Amino acid sequence: MILIQGKGVSNGVAIGPLYFYQRAKATITRYEVEDPEAEWARFKAAQATAIEQLGELAEKAREEAGDEAALLFETHQMMAEDMEYEEAIQTAVQENKLNAEAAVTDTAAQFAEMFAAMEDPYFQARAADVKDVSSRIIAALTGVAQGGINSPVPVILAADDLAPSETVQLDKSKILGFVTEGGSGSSHTAILARTMGIPAIISVGDQLKPEYEGKEVIIDGGTGNVTIDADEDAKAHLLKKMEEQRKTREMLEQLKGKPNETLDGRTIKVYCNIGGPDDVPAVLSNDAGGVGLFRSEFLYLNCDDFPSEDVQFEAYKKVLSDMGGKEVVIRTLDIGADKQIGYFNMPKEENPALGNRALRICLNRPEIFHTQLRALFRASAFGKLGIMFPMVTSVWEVKEAKKMCDRVRDELTKEGIPFSEDVEIGIMIETPAAVLMSDRLAKEVDFFSCGTNDLTQYTLACDRQNAELGRFFNPHHPAVLRALKIVCDNAHKNGVWVGICGELGADLALTETFLSIGIDELSVSPRSVLPLRQKIRETDVSQVKEKVLADLLSDENTI
Ligand code: PEP
Ligand code: MG
Repeated sequence: MILIQGKGVSNGVAIGPLYFYQRAKATITRYEVEDPEAEWARFKAAQATAIEQLGELAEKAREEAGDEAALLFETHQMMAEDMEYEEAIQTAVQENKLNAEAAVTDTAAQFAEMFAAMEDPYFQARAADVKDVSSRIIAALTGVAQGGINSPVPVILAADDLAPSETVQLDKSKILGFVTEGGSGSSHTAILARTMGIPAIISVGDQLKPEYEGKEVIIDGGTGNVTIDADEDAKAHLLKKMEEQRKTREMLEQLKGKPNETLDGRTIKVYCNIGGPDDVPAVLSNDAGGVGLFRSEFLYLNCDDFPSEDVQFEAYKKVLSDMGGKEVVIRTLDIGADKQIGYFNMPKEENPALGNRALRICLNRPEIFHTQLRALFRASAFGKLGIMFPMVTSVWEVKEAKKMCDRVRDELTKEGIPFSEDVEIGIMIETPAAVLMSDRLAKEVDFFSCGTNDLTQYTLACDRQNAELGRFFNPHHPAVLRALKIVCDNAHKNGVWVGICGELGADLALTETFLSIGIDELSVSPRSVLPLRQKIRETDVSQVKEKVLADLLSDENTI
């Protein structure tokens, strides 16, 4: 039996085979082949595999987001068998006796350069496509899965860490739990695990050895323990714990249909955070009152090129209609920092967390923002929509974003396209500047949603991605909690509602604090809805408020 200690970031016990996430190798070796005909046959087989995979992706995209989303993969299919592209590879293999991986790499570079040099932006954008298609063929040639999970059974997925773009591509039905070498509690792997309601352990360092692949592993997301080849006693103990958790879940099920009402009669909205339409069934089955944060950038991360207005419209419309009139807050594009997307062609930054990200990109590149807002307002006709802007620091940014909303409404009116007049506009409070300006910002919006992951990062000047900083990254820090109180006070003075959509919202140790400072909404992962409801229903705000506020502001509370 091997015991490894990490840090649990998503509760629960899971058991299954350990599987290491594999990335396509970036380095391609070049060599002269002895049998060019056999090499050509290798290429043709890899090409056929890539075309088949693209066909499957097109079908998945069609089901999730409609015909236009599927078109992208169908275009890639055509590219993979484009005559000129294929002929260039054939010449390199059959005449120059180059191995297929190198021939595809050279041809991809040559075609990408040719596309990039064209004047028409449409053709320029094809440079990224040809590179993408070629990587898929190379992955098929080398046998290294492009981040997929090539296992017939569900697994405990081990990785150094996963980028958001990698997590969106995973086949979620194959994952029982996560173990990562690095990462942090507010990294997107941890967030994904909590959304999926599966256990996750981070920061195990180099304790996980490649030779453990395939061994039976039990992970406990509560304690951070990873047990490989557990002996009988340990296994029995962990399986018992798993059973107890199942029973607790069953008990929590009784709370479905009950209000989130405190003992002294205050009702609070409990909503969910989602990454896309696929997460809505979990929101509904956990009886959440709405969606408090739809991270729309996951839609962009899932595409190889900018998703068109129609692709976005279909996805937003699906979430709104599936939520059946319950409120859905969609956050506009929040990329940059840890969420990088190749086709945005963003220059490398020294300090990406302080760089061109989120609303800043939208204001700097209004054509991207305009497309997203058109899709959002069109979708608003199908449910109860709120739109919120991330990473705000100044009032002018909000005014400029709202102007773009006005422009979109005018356009849709002129075009006779229906949209709702009751779309709420809100902002995320994620920076100290937004906290300090919240009295002014409240005059511009209908609601605030506190992104405590970033608010902690920026208030404490502490990188949320850096595992080394664990004990410095403390969302319970009085500076963060006092910031939330300032925001609540300023919001309420101006008749604006205020929620928390960062991970802290689900922290039951702080529920009394949030209720005492007057938070109106908590948006959490679907699995956290019922435990939170239970906690709210056990709380008497009138009893605890005075002490909570006194503690928060006390001289002793310095940490
Ligand atoms: C946050 O910062 O708290 C938040 C909800 O946004 P994200 O985690 O996606 O940055
Ligand atoms: Mg954030």
